[in-house]
Formats: sequence, structure tokens, C-alpha cells
Amino acid sequence: MTSRIAVIGGGPAGLTFARVLHRHGHPVTVLERDPARDARPAGGTLDLHQELGQLALEKAGLLAEFQALSRPEGQAMRILDTDGTVLRDWRPRPGDLANPEIDRGQLRDLLLGPLDVRWGSAVTEVVPQGRDGVLVRLADGREETFDLVVGADGAWSRVRRAVSPVTPHYTGVTLVETSLDAIDARHPDLARLVGDGSVAVYGVERALVAQRNSGGHVKVYAQFRAPLDPETDPDPADAEAVRSALLARFDGWAAPVLDLLRHGTAFVRRPLHVLPVSHTWAHVPGVTLLGDAAHLMPPLGAGANLAMLEGAELAESVAAAPHARDEAVRAFEETMWARAGRWAEITTAGLERLVSRDPAQALALFDEVQPS
Ligand SMILES: Cc1cc2nc3c(=O)[nH]c(=O)nc-3n(C[C@H](O)[C@H](O)[C@H](O)COP(=O)(O)OP(=O)(O)OC[C@H]3O[C@@H](n4cnc5c(N)ncnc54)[C@H](O)[C@@H]3O)c2cc1C
Repeated sequence: MTSRIAVIGGGPAGLTFARVLHRHGHPVTVLERDPARDARPAGGTLDLHQELGQLALEKAGLLAEFQALSRPEGQAMRILDTDGTVLRDWRPRPGDLANPEIDRGQLRDLLLGPLDVRWGSAVTEVVPQGRDGVLVRLADGREETFDLVVGADGAWSRVRRAVSPVTPHYTGVTLVETSLDAIDARHPDLARLVGDGSVAVYGVERALVAQRNSGGHVKVYAQFRAPLDPETDPDPADAEAVRSALLARFDGWAAPVLDLLRHGTAFVRRPLHVLPVSHTWAHVPGVTLLGDAAHLMPPLGAGANLAMLEGAELAESVAAAPHARDEAVRAFEETMWARAGRWAEITTAGLERLVSRDPAQALALFDEVQPS
């Protein structure tokens, strides 16, 4: 009998898992909390590494489609000091496909393809029941039992509770996100500042990064060290108050850099939380985790990549071992923990250097990781 497999969450991890399983001819139920595909903005751009996210897409049979959609020129990176002086201006060589960028919405649609997602299915609880399978409870009162439940439900995972008592903690760094539309037509000076990829400015315990998405859309991320939810913070719904507070925080920085905040539209506050660097758990038959649910780490270009590769690898392991599924899941977890632990160390150290008391640390980090 075909085993009943459910994945909770339709982000990069869950959709890659489902798509690769589907490619191997195995049915899979995808339960996603969002009421519809476009229920909320998909988010910014992601760079997919050749050995991580792109490898996952190859396993899903989607690499050629990714290459047609993605933006290799988006790998470009410019670093300024707070006076606006250009310190680094790195551009990819022609044919460099190491880390092309793709909009999250485009990636989601690519992965969705023929998948049949059950939208509006918010999981509240997952209860392992030994030989009887794993019970999944939904917010609308429905219940269903599966043989394998894969938690790909992100940072605040409900599935995680079935395997681990650990919850994310605050890094001390908050990110406020804003965006500009039609930048080439409306703000040509800022379009030149951002270039084809990203521009980053590092100051003392704060940084400003702007990233070009497709269609002239630019996402701006202001990052700074601050207490979690300080009482003095403006109401996040009051865009002008948030803008003023940010301009005060970045006071003295070059005018073109601050224009990225002056022209930004809505603002979203994202305190950065993480799980402990080596988050593991005692294996629970019938339940496992992928992506941010398993190893939430600072957003330094690895999380979605790892999530996708894990999704692809778990799907391949499960498809290849119909009679030894639990052993396959156990082996997958060991591989995931080791790799994610290494990346969690790298990204945790990276965040410390990018938002630090000494802005030279950020430049040194760029020089260490960027090919010359
Ligand atoms: C500002 C920012 C920039 C980033 N940039 C990059 C980058 O360039 N490269 C990179 O690799 N990573 C990046 N990351 C990290 C990346 O976004 C995450 O690591 C990645 O999205 C994790 O994928 P996931 O599928 O595990 O979780 P998510 O993307 O969080 O997806 C989880 C899904 O589960 C659904 N869900 C949640 N709860 C439930 C529930 N109870 N029931 C059902 N469904 C549920 C959610 O609606 C969502 O669709 C960035 C993160 C941030 C914040």
C-alpha cells in the first residue's frame, strides 16, 4: 500500500519536497495555511546557490526553467560607506551562474506546477500515535491521519512541538523592510545606485541593504541592533512615523542612501529570531522537519537554499525506500543536522560582523566570501 505522506507548509522546503516526490510518482498532501496562492506578498528575491538550491531544482527537473527565469546579473554587489563613497563594486562575469537571483513569487509558481495544494489548511497540532500513524489537527476542526508528516511550516512551526521543545530566540538585530516600485522610471538616480543587484552600506551597529527584484521592484532592508519591541517604537501601521524613526536612526548617512528610506512605501518590522546553532532532536517515527522549522538562522543567503535541498533529498530518500521509510528519514535527519549546523555557525558569525561596532568587519567579510 502507498504510504500517506503530508507536508505542512508550502514554502521553499515544502514545495520542493512535494515536487520531487511528485516527480517520483508518489502522492503527497500539501497543507498550507495561506488561503490562496497570492493571499500575501511573496517577499523579496532569493539567490540560489549552484550546490544547494539549484541542485534541488535539478532534482525536481526544473533547472532549465529556473535558468530561463533567474537573473544572473542580480549577483552584482556594491558596497558604500556611510558617506556614499563606493568601496567595492563587484559584478559577475558573463556566464557566471553560481548564485542567480529569482523572485520568491516566481520560484513558488515554478515549484507549484502541477501540485495540488490544500490552501487555507492551518495545522494546529501534530500527534504521533505509534503504529496508528500521525494525527494532524487543523484550525477548522478537521483531523486526518498520515504515515509520515513533514513539518515545513517555517520559523514558528507547529509541527516542531511534536519532536522538540525548543523555540526561536531573538538575535538582538531587527530588520525593517520597505520597497520601491518602478524604480527605473520613478527614481533613476536610485536605480543607478542599486545597479543590477544589491547595494549595501554598513555603519556602527546598523546597515542598509537594497536589492533589485524583477520588474523594477526594489526591496530595502534597514538592519540595526535594538531591544525586542521597545515601547518607544512607532506603531508599525503608521508608515510616516516608522520612516521618521528610521531616518533618525540613520541620521548623518549620505542623502542618496537615505532616499531609499524616504521613497519607500509600506514598512514591515522583522525582529530576527534563530534556533540554537545545533538544533537536533531524538528521532520520532512518522514526523520530521525541514527548512526554517528545523534550523532557523540569520537571513544571509542560506535558509531557502538549505530548505530546498533538504526537501529534494528527503523526497528522494523516501521514494527510494518504500519498505524502510523510517530508516531513510533517520539518515536524512543526520545529514541535514550536520550541514545545517555548519551553515548556522557561518550565518550567525556573519550577522555579528555585518551589524557590528566596527563596519570594517562587514567589508572584510565581503572580501573573504566574494570571488575576485
Ligand atoms: C529578509 C529575508 C531575506 C532572506 N533572503 C534569503 C536569501 O537570499 N537566500 C536564502 O537562501 N534565504 C533567504 N532568507 C531565508 C529564507 O527566507 C528562509 O530560510 C526560507 O523561506 C525557509 O523556507 P521554509 O519553506 O522552511 O519556510 P517558509 O518560507 O517560512 O515557509 C513556511 C510555509 O509554511 C506555512 N505555514 C506556517 N505555519 C503553518 C501552519 N501552522 N499550517 C500550515 N502552513 C503553515 C507558511 O504560510 C509558509 O508558506 C531570507 C529571509 C529573510 C527574512
